[in-house]
Amino acid sequence: MLNIVLFGPPGAGKGTQSEKLIQKYGIEHISTGDLFRKHLGEGTELGKLAKKYMDEGNLVPDKVVIGMVDDRINSSKDPKGFIFDGFPRTVAQAKALDELLNAKGIGISGMISLEVPEDELRKRIKERGKTSGRTDDQDDKKVDNRIKVYKEETMPVAKYYEEQGKLSKIHGVGSIDEIFASICKVVDQY
Ligand code: ADP
Repeated sequence: MLNIVLFGPPGAGKGTQSEKLIQKYGIEHISTGDLFRKHLGEGTELGKLAKKYMDEGNLVPDKVVIGMVDDRINSSKDPKGFIFDGFPRTVAQAKALDELLNAKGIGISGMISLEVPEDELRKRIKERGKTSGRTDDQDDKKVDNRIKVYKEETMPVAKYYEEQGKLSKIHGVGSIDEIFASICKVVDQY
C-alpha cells in the first residue's frame, strides 16, 4: 500500500497536489480540514465541536481528529493507499496514526514536506480567501495564529518522520506541474 503524509504549512499547496496524486496513483485523499468542513456543513455534533477551534485557527483536540480519521480509513473498501493531508498535525496524532495503521498490518511509506516561504503563504491564503468562502482565510489575525500553531505544534511532526528516515523535502514554489513532478520522483521510489 502507498500511504503518503503530505506535509506543509497552511497555503503550501497540499490540497492541489493531493488532487493530482489521487488521480495518478489511484489512492484515496484524507484531508482532515475537508472532513471537518463537511461535518460543519452538515451541522453534525462533531462539526459544531470543531467549529470553535477552526474559527480561531487553533487545532481541534487530538482525540477527536484521530477518531474521525480512524472512521474514514475503516470506511474504505480495498484501498490502494491513502494521502493524509493536514494530518498528522501534532506528534501525538502521528503516533496514533502509526498505531492505527500497524494494527492493520500497514504503515506510512513516507512524508513529503512542501517547503514554501512565509510571505508566499500569506499571499496564497489571501488569494484563496477571495473565492474559498473560508473565514479562516480572510482574517489576518487568524492566518497569523494558524502559522504560529503550525510552527509550534505541527513542525515537530516532520522531525518524527525524519527520525524514521521517511522525510523528503520538496521546494513548493513554481508551477503546479513542476512541483508535482518533484513529488512523483519521490513517490516512485517508495
Ligand atoms: P490549512 O492547512 O489551510 O490551515 P485545513 O483545511 O487543513 O487548512 O484545516 C483547517 C482547520 O481545521 C485548522 O486550522 C484546524 O482548526 C482544523 N484541523 C484540520 N486538520 C486538523 C488536525 N489534523 N488536527 C487538528 N485540527 C485540524
